[in-house]
Amino acid sequence: MLDYFLTEAQKTIVEVADRIGREYILPYAHQWDEEEVCDPRPLWAMSKADLFGLFIPEEFGGLGFGTLENCLAIETLSKYCTGVSTTFAASGLGAYPILIAGNKAQKQKYLPAVASGRKLCAFALTEPQAGSDASAIKTTALKEGDYYVLNGIKQWITNGGVADIYIVIALTDPKKGARGASAFIVEKGDPGFAIGKKEKKMGLRASTTTELFFSRCRIPKERLLGREGMGFIIAMKTLDLSRPGVGAQAVGLAQGAMELALSHARKRIQFGQPVYNFQAVSHTFAEMAMRIEAARALVYSTARFIDSGAKNISGASAMSKAFATDVAMWVTERAVQMMGGFGYMRDFLAEKMMRDAKCLQIYEGTNEIQRNIIARELAKFYKD
Ligand SMILES: Cc1cc2nc3c(=O)[nH]c(=O)nc-3n(C[C@H](O)[C@H](O)[C@H](O)COP(=O)(O)OP(=O)(O)OC[C@H]3O[C@@H](n4cnc5c(N)ncnc54)[C@H](O)[C@@H]3O)c2cc1C
Repeated sequence: MLDYFLTEAQKTIVEVADRIGREYILPYAHQWDEEEVCDPRPLWAMSKADLFGLFIPEEFGGLGFGTLENCLAIETLSKYCTGVSTTFAASGLGAYPILIAGNKAQKQKYLPAVASGRKLCAFALTEPQAGSDASAIKTTALKEGDYYVLNGIKQWITNGGVADIYIVIALTDPKKGARGASAFIVEKGDPGFAIGKKEKKMGLRASTTTELFFSRCRIPKERLLGREGMGFIIAMKTLDLSRPGVGAQAVGLAQGAMELALSHARKRIQFGQPVYNFQAVSHTFAEMAMRIEAARALVYSTARFIDSGAKNISGASAMSKAFATDVAMWVTERAVQMMGGFGYMRDFLAEKMMRDAKCLQIYEGTNEIQRNIIARELAKFYKD
């Protein structure tokens, strides 16, 4: 309903992503959710449309745009299937560490393939005993001559098996804990690297989530990103940059759920009139629209803040993620309610959207952790 004064290029990105959503995603979203498959066809369409390269600099094969343009693409795709948009966004998540800490040779080697969509990325931080407390990771990467040897397990990694490039956070100095963590590029097919079981999930079922196993996985020392000991900082900076993207997923998903339920409520006749005519129903839609617009405004403002080159982005990034994803959870639940039994049936997409929304409150740091970050930044910002 609002005009965000997007540039012509930004409007084009939305149009392109919307066409891909309508043609390559929506007709199959229900099927992929039921079958739990990550279908390559929408990814090929995104690759052909250069969407994977939106925020990658032109010198490395991308289009040289920023966070906002990436968020616009993610939001638009998410309206049609947030599982598919997760595969897309998680590849960007895996590209950020290379952009943040990669040297020129690493950027030249990996980014053009990522920008073109020929290769997908994944970002591997979480382990069985290290979720919110990422500093509790145990995977090691010990130096042996010109190589690092990785041992350990990563859990719940988006794009596991479908990605070619994995950013792995592992301890080069286990005695130092998080300060001894480093970031590495691991390639599919590296000896000692194996993909574990594919998880069965509540939602986002068109996206693949797996374990990763490293058993004496030997990689050349040139795969270290930045310096030894920088792994945790690289991981946190990565999440600061990518969290507005999760907010954008939430905005698109909530928008899709509202439109779906609105269309139903205007057609569904009870007591001789469309249920939308009942104030309890129409006010619920008014509330949905307000919350979605507030979430969108926060996500876009945060993305623009990041693109301005601002340094202290952690608080804003966490706000955009937590606020928008809480909105998506609320809106999708209400959408199911406004559709009554139709909302509950798996033949319609409303219940899928509600299942998809739940994960947005959990991954890339739970919304409780986002509130910890916001509170920490608040205390720094407002000094006594
Ligand atoms: C579908 C899916 C895909 C994922 N993809 C990836 C990926 O690609 N890469 C990756 O590295 N990880 C990935 N993850 C992992 C995800 O980031 C973690 O699940 C998340 O960070 C939370 O960790 P946890 O699940 O272990 O929860 P826990 O840390 O065990 O938390 C349990 C509960 O305790 C709360 N809690 C914990 N600590 C605090 C605290 N200090 N203050 C307040 N509350 C707290 C949490 O908010 C939560 O409600 C994925 C997860 C899912 C479900």
